Amino acid sequence: MDLIALPAFTDNYIWMLHDGANAIVVDPGEAAPVHAALDARQLTLAGILVTHHHGDHVGGVDALRERLHGPVYGPRREQIPQPCVPLDDGDEVELLGLRFSVIDVPGHTAGHIAYFHAGRGGAPILFCGDTLFSGGCGRLFEGTPEQMHRSLSRLAELPGDTRVCCAHEYTLANLRFAAVVEPGNPALARYTADCEAARAADRPTLPSRIDTERAVNPFLRCEQPAVVRCAAAHGAASARGSDVFAALRRWKNEFR
Ligand SMILES: [Zn+2]
Ligand SMILES: [Zn+2]
Repeated sequence: MDLIALPAFTDNYIWMLHDGANAIVVDPGEAAPVHAALDARQLTLAGILVTHHHGDHVGGVDALRERLHGPVYGPRREQIPQPCVPLDDGDEVELLGLRFSVIDVPGHTAGHIAYFHAGRGGAPILFCGDTLFSGGCGRLFEGTPEQMHRSLSRLAELPGDTRVCCAHEYTLANLRFAAVVEPGNPALARYTADCEAARAADRPTLPSRIDTERAVNPFLRCEQPAVVRCAAAHGAASARGSDVFAALRRWKNEFR
């Protein structure tokens, strides 16, 4: 299996997984990069996974149907281009012979879902849309801090070697914020150097790994004393994880 990040728009990635003959794509916000990748490798499009309803994630779905030999899957509680097989937390789908389980991750949008494959020979794979980014997380457009904190906590419990396939290249900007929250975190300094080198060479910083995110991402570290202290200085109502998360998310919205 090959896992590829197809750049789209200015900072989106459309994830493609293929076995040399068949491919699936995740969140095709535009069709052209998918057409080009399928053509270059002579692949059949065997399925589309959608994580949430935003246009930069679904805009290319209808234009890809003409060459789609398989289903479009998406969150039951959101408006997705139809026809689409609706999915809920705990549902399982099989694509390219791989089983993916659905995890409800409300917060960025009300019905956002993620797709997790537990791995078979290779490392597990997580397609998490705009919920978890490397070093950061999505903005709260439709959900509460409590919901998003719980969603991120569920993702943080996945196996450490899980490949984290986020839908945007926001890593360096996120890490600048993370360094202000936790200036004394050595794992963060090392990871930042790796990501700067990747971007300087025009490579994606993704996929990340869950164990990396647990070590560097302040939004997954709301119980760490240094993070709690920093959040308290920025208005956190208490040391509870969801209050720390809420303060960090508010602060990050204004951070430049
Ligand atoms: Zn979004
Ligand atoms: Zn997006």
